[in-house]
Amino acid sequence: MTVTEAMTRADAIDLALVGVGKIARDQHLPAIAADAGFRLAATASRSGGVEGVENHAELDALLAARPDVAAVSLCQPPQARYEAARAALLARRHVMLEKPPGQTVAEVQALADLAAAQGVTLFATWHSRHAAGVAPARDWLASRPARRVRITWQEDVREWHPGQTWIWQAGGLGVFDPGINALSILTAILPGPVRLTAADLHVPTNCETPIACDLVFAGAEGLSVEARFDFRWEGPPRWDIEVETDAGLLRLAKGGAALELDGAPQRLEDPGEYPDLYRRFGELIAAGASDVDLAPLVLVADAFLLGRRLPAEPFHE
Ligand code: NAP
Repeated sequence: MTVTEAMTRADAIDLALVGVGKIARDQHLPAIAADAGFRLAATASRSGGVEGVENHAELDALLAARPDVAAVSLCQPPQARYEAARAALLARRHVMLEKPPGQTVAEVQALADLAAAQGVTLFATWHSRHAAGVAPARDWLASRPARRVRITWQEDVREWHPGQTWIWQAGGLGVFDPGINALSILTAILPGPVRLTAADLHVPTNCETPIACDLVFAGAEGLSVEARFDFRWEGPPRWDIEVETDAGLLRLAKGGAALELDGAPQRLEDPGEYPDLYRRFGELIAAGASDVDLAPLVLVADAFLLGRRLPAEPFHE
């Protein structure tokens, strides 16, 4: 560590990580370790947390024991998010939410209001928006009217979500858990809004949430968007978005990490999705600001409101 880095770390924000599961271990821990602006001070996780780091089984106990922890990052499933976020905001801590930011739209709105009243930062993250191709795609589309969008978001649930029973329970979103990432990109790259016009939700007879869905959206000036999300896919995942415009074809692949414009692969700068999320969290805290965009969650809520629920084969791990 250089002297400059050591000085920066002395000023780092003490942060607690809550819900130490797959995404916390795969992405949050390395991103926090690499960010001089944050120091992992504690965890709240029922199953033991991170070796060498103070752990509390419950967030309330952590908040009471560690007034020095200024920020918390919540990595539990959406069903547990609201109560934890509310407790942290009431204790005047800055809060970062994994996606989706909650299990209903109203609870996230309530959290945004609470953060404003408490004078602390709330950052509802959409990690896929920080994929390397997303900002250049948005810039390219700003001057080229989109006419047709096709989204294919297919992955093998057994490979990508092993043992995650919460996904199949109400509030767990089912295939919208990854699919909302596509919607977070869609709502970031198009200059105007889209609205859902039709949805088929394929729900296994032994589950509460869909295993696959087909969605249709409409936008300004005849824009149409078709999306297929499917957890039953076997083989390499497909996380692709194609946009036909009046002036060429845009293709985002690998969840937004790869960008082609008229068939030409683009060279992209890539700080990494999660390092960029923590950079942004630090920036928001320093500015005394919040960042809560509900657009992707609203589209999912509309799919549950408008969608036809169609029975599908029972799902077994
Ligand atoms: P996970 O592996 O199941 O881990 C979640 C952790 O949260 C659990 O290990 C558990 O730890 C804790 N938890 C607290 N309340 C819980 C409850 N009611 N049910 C289950 N676990 C509970 O899930 P994950 O894949 O990390 O996903 C967590 C969130 O991150 C989701 O919102 C997901 O959409 C998002 N995310 C996941 C990925 C991915 O690739 N997996 C990618 C991006 C975002 P303790 O038992 O120790 O408390």
